[in-house]
Amino acid sequence: MGDAPLTLTPIPAFDDNYLWLLDNGREALVVDPGDATPVAAALDARGLTLAGILLTHHHGDHVGGVDALRPRLQGPVYGPVHERLPEPVQRLQGGDRVTLLGLQFEVLDLPGHTAGHIAYYAAEVPGDDPLLFCGDTLFSAGCGRLFEGTPAQMHASLQSLAALPSGTRVCCAHEYTLSNLRFAREVDPDNAVLADYAAWCEARRAAGLPTLPARLGTETRINPFLRCAEPALQAAARRHAPLKLPAAPSPVDVFATLREWKNGFR
Ligand code: ZN
Ligand code: FE
Repeated sequence: MGDAPLTLTPIPAFDDNYLWLLDNGREALVVDPGDATPVAAALDARGLTLAGILLTHHHGDHVGGVDALRPRLQGPVYGPVHERLPEPVQRLQGGDRVTLLGLQFEVLDLPGHTAGHIAYYAAEVPGDDPLLFCGDTLFSAGCGRLFEGTPAQMHASLQSLAALPSGTRVCCAHEYTLSNLRFAREVDPDNAVLADYAAWCEARRAAGLPTLPARLGTETRINPFLRCAEPALQAAARRHAPLKLPAAPSPVDVFATLREWKNGFR
């Protein structure tokens, strides 16, 4: 039973969302089903029952399909304690644990994109690397916008993710990688690992393939928003905002500067 191999599938939705499906050949869970239609189609095509839904935050592109999936749902909808969500929801906060498909997920509090945003982390995945469903907090080569949180909160949230094992498979909710990479290369132009990764991502997208899941050990080397204590990123932030930043800006100052810079970057 519990040891059937698990299959991880990013279901494309809207312009650039991924609705992550994890299944053991019989049962599935889905993360952030903003749209029910492609989820139902994937479940039907593979004869899967829906054992649970995991929600990371309240935005419509993450919760919009929940009610339409309820008739086929055989388990709970889990979601963050402090957000308005389609009821009923089993509420979770940092440190809580949920078991689905025989996997134990730890809940991480990640304020910043929204005030109550959470992630789901499975440290032990039989025969495979750890799994992280992090919604709109960490993207490959980027991070979520600060709609409800402060730079200090988002920086701390991202640092808590950066501390997870380097092999962790990072299941972000959007395929923003190529546009994030344009900004990352602007702010960190001498990073050879970043240049190699950008070439790999461009080839993946040209072949119609997702760049995700990302590897955490790659992100800590290429993602500027995880590297705000690095001299190269400090220097880039100071070049961008010389009057605002002290000679030795703190990582949170660097983060705030990069985030604002990227908001206006085209
Ligand atoms: Zn969002
Ligand atoms: Fe989103």
